[in-house]
Amino acid sequence: MDLLFPTAEPTVIPVLSRDGGALGAAPIRRVYCVGRNYAAHAVEMGHDPNRESPFFFQKNPDNVVRGGGPIPYPPQSDDVHHEVELVVMLKSGGSDIAVGDALDHVLGYGVGVDLTRRDLQGEAKKAGRPWEIGKAFEKSAPVTSLIAADEDFHLSTGAIWLTVNGETRQQGDVNQMIWKTPEIIAYLSRYFTLAPGDMIMTGTPAGVGPVQRGDRIVCGVDGLPELHVEIV
Ligand code: MN
Repeated sequence: MDLLFPTAEPTVIPVLSRDGGALGAAPIRRVYCVGRNYAAHAVEMGHDPNRESPFFFQKNPDNVVRGGGPIPYPPQSDDVHHEVELVVMLKSGGSDIAVGDALDHVLGYGVGVDLTRRDLQGEAKKAGRPWEIGKAFEKSAPVTSLIAADEDFHLSTGAIWLTVNGETRQQGDVNQMIWKTPEIIAYLSRYFTLAPGDMIMTGTPAGVGPVQRGDRIVCGVDGLPELHVEIV
C-alpha cells in the first residue's frame, strides 16, 4: 500500500573514531534508560539501593537532540532536572545475550543528559502511573557524538560530571554503576529483542537538580566529547 505520509527522518548520531575521524552516522532505533543505577542517586531520590534493583524506562528516538545546543525549557513543568549519563549504542543485538558476549554488540559510547520533568514524574510515581510524561518529552535527551568502541576501548571507568553555569552539580565515576554495561545489555536482551541503533542511557550519579532558563550545562565522561546545553 502507498504510504499516506512520508516516514519521519530518523534521528542520527555521528560516530567518531578515537582520533576524531568521522566514521558515519548511526540512526537511533530505541532509547532504553536505566533508573537508579548509582547508589548515591538512589538514596538522594529516597530509595534503598540494597533493597531495590535498577530498572528500565524508555524515551523516544526523536526525543534525542544531536550534539546538545539550545533546548527550550519544556512545557507543563516548573521543576526540570539534569541527569548526566553515559550513553551506549549497539551495532548488533539479539535475545538472551550472555554477559560475557555483551560488549561485542557495542558500537560506541557518548554522553547524554536525561532531562526530567521531576514534578510530573513525582506525580506519576505517587499515582503508580508510567513515567512517560516526566521523561519522554521533546528534546529531553541531548547526546554527544559517539566514540567507536573496539577491543582496546570499552568505557567502564572514569569521571562523570556535570556543571551548571560553571558550578559542579554532579560528580561520580562510571565504575559506580550498579549494573555495568554488559549486565544492562544482557538483562535488557532477556525482555526485548535488541537491534542495531538501540541506545541505552545508563543512569545518573548523585547531584541531580533543577535547571532554569538561561542556564548553561556542561557535562562529560573521561575519554568522551563534552556535551554543552543551554536552556532557553
Ligand atoms: Mn536518568
